[in-house]
Amino acid sequence: MINVAIDGPVGAGKSSVARECARRLGFIYVDTGALYRSCALFCIKNGITISPDNESEIAEALEKRLELKIDLIDGEQHVYVNGEDVNGEIRTIEISKAASEISALPSVRKYLLDTQRSIAANNNVIMDGRDIGTVILPNADLKIFITAKPEVRAKRRYDELIAKGESITLGEVLVDVNRRDFNDTHRKEAPLKQAEDAILIDTTEIDFEETVSGLTAFIMSRFETLA
Ligand code: C5P
Repeated sequence: MINVAIDGPVGAGKSSVARECARRLGFIYVDTGALYRSCALFCIKNGITISPDNESEIAEALEKRLELKIDLIDGEQHVYVNGEDVNGEIRTIEISKAASEISALPSVRKYLLDTQRSIAANNNVIMDGRDIGTVILPNADLKIFITAKPEVRAKRRYDELIAKGESITLGEVLVDVNRRDFNDTHRKEAPLKQAEDAILIDTTEIDFEETVSGLTAFIMSRFETLA
């Protein structure tokens, strides 16, 4: 199996780039952020407070009461929380914040570890997240770290949210991006950082198509079986 790990901060374009590269290569795209978002949604819906002080209740609820499943429909990842497809519900700014908070809890990261590793063990994947190259798949065949300036990332996220009908200002999105960057890079457990053997792509001045075609060609050149 070929495993490509893509990490980077919010709004760097990693999900859209990873999804499109995977489509072109016939790989499975795994959006690990959706798993943290789904855990956060589950807690909110069940009245479980997301806070480090409440970690034991969260851990127990995830282990005993949450069944998390991933399915691919037309190449699109769908996550099911106790049988319910939550894709439409997990992309709000409220869930973004809650996911950032819940993802700092070691027991939540541990809970999601096996799910992520077993998908990678059985499929050619492009997996995107924050700690894929450093923690989840330290032996990935290829590691990429995608980033861009915070202002550019905030603008991309803003455009996405507006397109989805959320009412929000660019300033609010920038605050959210900066806060999530801070949380992701400063947490004790699996902080966001570039793996030593990862290739850095800065998309501040490169557009989507250029990034995707460059990366797809690079992956094909690295793995002869794909040529
Ligand atoms: O990538 P996305 O914005 O959907 O992720 C939501 C949150 O989940 C991030 O802000 C980050 O805190 C967390 N996350 C993580 N590790 C991952 C993927 C996401 O901590 N592998």
